[in-house]
Amino acid sequence: MSLDQATDAETKETWILTRDEKFNFRAAHWADLHGLLYSALPQDIFLLGNLFLSFSVSDDKNSVKVKAKIIQTGEIVEIVGDLLIAADGCLSLIRQTFLPHLKLRYSGYCAWRGVLDFSGNENSETILGLRGAYPDLGKCLYFDLGTATHSVLYELLNNRINWIWYSNQPEPELKGSSVTMKVSREMIEKMQDDAEKVCVPELARVMKETSEPFINVIYDREPLEQIFWDNVVLIGDAAHPTTPHGVRSTNMSLVDSYVLGKCLEKWGAKNLHQALEEYQSIRLPVTSKQVLHARKMGQVKQGLVLPNGKRFDPKNASPEECEVLQQKTCLSLLGFL
Ligand SMILES: Cc1cc2nc3c(=O)[nH]c(=O)nc-3n(C[C@H](O)[C@H](O)[C@H](O)COP(=O)(O)OP(=O)(O)OC[C@H]3O[C@@H](n4cnc5c(N)ncnc54)[C@H](O)[C@@H]3O)c2cc1C
Repeated sequence: MSLDQATDAETKETWILTRDEKFNFRAAHWADLHGLLYSALPQDIFLLGNLFLSFSVSDDKNSVKVKAKIIQTGEIVEIVGDLLIAADGCLSLIRQTFLPHLKLRYSGYCAWRGVLDFSGNENSETILGLRGAYPDLGKCLYFDLGTATHSVLYELLNNRINWIWYSNQPEPELKGSSVTMKVSREMIEKMQDDAEKVCVPELARVMKETSEPFINVIYDREPLEQIFWDNVVLIGDAAHPTTPHGVRSTNMSLVDSYVLGKCLEKWGAKNLHQALEEYQSIRLPVTSKQVLHARKMGQVKQGLVLPNGKRFDPKNASPEECEVLQQKTCLSLLGFL
């Protein structure tokens, strides 16, 4: 199930905005998901610790040569293949080769994130308090809306709580090639103080007890018109940088790879162009809608100005207005359900 509730920052009073008993979801920790994939696939297909540097397509367009650096030794290696599948995320270096002037759109907010491992502390005051404040934890995806902010909370397998807290702020300067920002002790302490002011106290306590919370800067961009060039193809966030409010961007990446695999299987290596054309024609219309929809969801939940000039206000929203918060409703509006 999923539940959207609102919290008054002053009184800490909480009330339900909308609830979907039938919302079906599975939550997984990254490490568990990666572990499953890693053990299901032949080990020699992973070249861990290789940093992609550049690529070149052969004149006859039949092969791609990739240059990579082995991080541990500094050695530069070259790998030749039929097809380069760029799954290098939101800031994709491979996409930049084709679209050097493409800029991402900063959403207006960043996300503080963390996972609290409470193994051995199942009956601690923090966890019992959290279960009291969020009684359906374990089977419910909780969204907590405040004034111009919202948080997401759910339980993962093996005694872990995952939380995300979005806060509106000017665009930070990113160092390096990741949307994850390094944070200082002072920034963590400030976040914990701010959380105490606006969040449900039991959630603020979980945030305070989480070791190593981190920040993701949230970007997306207008959908691309093209996601393959010769024998180079984009999948996942590289193909469609998106804000995470559809709660399905990993699924989008997985479906991309499934569809790409099916198209390659259907057309064979000799008809690469047709396979990539079909992959693009199936995925691009769907992911484009999902990106724009997720953008709107973020704007609603962060109380930002919407295209109609208004802001969603959880204090005064009518039940009909609250329906837009439901994950299922959003998908059906888009024709996916
Ligand atoms: C705050 C937040 C909450 C989210 N919540 C959800 C959610 O609830 N559900 C959901 O489905 N999705 C969620 N997502 C989205 C999800 O994290 C991404 O959509 C997903 O990780 C995209 O997968 P990807 O493989 O395309 O890219 P990534 O996961 O970004 O993977 C790209 C990989 O490429 C590697 N790479 C990049 N450059 C190089 C290089 N030069 N050489 C070698 N390797 C390189 C990176 O190290 C990385 O491992 C959330 C995202 C954020 C920011």
